[in-house]
Amino acid sequence: MTRVLVVEDDPQLVRALVINMQARHYGVDAAPDGTTALRLAAARQPDVILLDLGLPDMDGVDVIKALRGWTRTPILVLSARRASEEKVAALDAGADDYITKPFSMDELLARLRAAVRRAEDGPHPPGTTLVETDDFTIDLLAKKATRHGSGLRLTPTEWHLLELLVTNPGRLVTQKQLLQEVWGPSSGNRTNYLRVYMAQLRRKLETDPSHPRYLITEPGMGYRFEA
Ligand code: CA
Repeated sequence: MTRVLVVEDDPQLVRALVINMQARHYGVDAAPDGTTALRLAAARQPDVILLDLGLPDMDGVDVIKALRGWTRTPILVLSARRASEEKVAALDAGADDYITKPFSMDELLARLRAAVRRAEDGPHPPGTTLVETDDFTIDLLAKKATRHGSGLRLTPTEWHLLELLVTNPGRLVTQKQLLQEVWGPSSGNRTNYLRVYMAQLRRKLETDPSHPRYLITEPGMGYRFEA
């Protein structure tokens, strides 16, 4: 049974979540605030944590930081706020994904399943060296990329960026995470680098680079590889 910890201070939403998840045979614990969440996370060892960012006692981002001190359990953030900075801060602190309120229960459950699946597979699924889509194939071991059978030339920077995205399928990787990994900790806010290199990758990999199917932009936040 998949165990979920729901951290949310809105009792009606908690009730709806608990009913829907129990109907799908999830084991559910609920915490109305950050302090209870941290205690229950340690005591119950959930497989996934659903975390509202607006809690009465603590900032949700601080809850994520505290959790990440000792656990890699996937954290799916529930955010009522439209401000993307809030979600970016949550992702940079170690959350795995976010969903904006109001959301449909089906969408939430799909995201939940995806987060649990990714955690089980790990960032590099064991034995996976080939990433295949309808249009291109990436061989991570041989460091070769082909599109419809013909070899692609990628620069080391393009390769690094692509590798970070394809080894986290479906996951939003933030601008900051990509910049730090590829250009180093002093790269700061040079998101123009990212735009340039992502445009190059799309020209090489996508059938219609202006309407990408695989290398998706989350405006103001980061990028996501959809296989
Ligand atoms: Ca709240």
